[in-house]
Amino acid sequence: MRRFEGDQLVLASHNAGKLREIGQLLTPFGLTVRSAKEFGLDEPEETETNFEGNARLKAQFAARATGLPSLSDDSGLEVDALDGAPGVYTADWAETGAGRDFEMAMHKVWDKLEAANAPEPRTARFVCTLCLAWPDGTDEVFRGECPGRLVWPMRGTRGFGYDPMFLADNEVETFGEIDPARKARINHRAAAFRALVKGCFGG
Ligand code: IMP
Repeated sequence: MRRFEGDQLVLASHNAGKLREIGQLLTPFGLTVRSAKEFGLDEPEETETNFEGNARLKAQFAARATGLPSLSDDSGLEVDALDGAPGVYTADWAETGAGRDFEMAMHKVWDKLEAANAPEPRTARFVCTLCLAWPDGTDEVFRGECPGRLVWPMRGTRGFGYDPMFLADNEVETFGEIDPARKARINHRAAAFRALVKGCFGG
């Protein structure tokens, strides 16, 4: 496992929700955290068919382009009764041609569950894969999951993406309602981040 030794890290994402959460997780490490936007980087096309592949593609692209170690996040929602969909296509399900509409995407998920007459609880999990890549082409990949179920109607205006329909196990508030500090401790991104810290930051 390669250790992170530098003092600068590029966050290879343009997603405001991910940037906020990962930026906060990195705060204790005293790094200079730079954004892909700062370097005017495009987002590479996510052509892989699993989270790990897409995370590697994004982190390697940013590391090559900036010459700095780069951290990417590829994440999504897996719904058991939909055979793991939307999975790697979680962001795509929100695509409208005029930007992303997550309210529409959540309706799509719920409508499919209704059409399939899926039994309750409608179990699902958020998955997060973090990839730390170096400019010389090496990388390390970490995965975290947060199990829960989907609820309807959607609840709450905090968070982002599919948060308002996701109730994590043992919680009473959806990720759209929950205190962001609590979400940051229990979610899939936090789980992947703990593995990253253990593997690369020696924590
Ligand atoms: P990608 O990683 O860019 O392919 O996009 C993953 C998509 O999964 C995001 O656009 C969000 O819609 C969704 N997602 C990932 N993490 C979360 C989360 O913590 N809450 C809600 N939605 C999420």
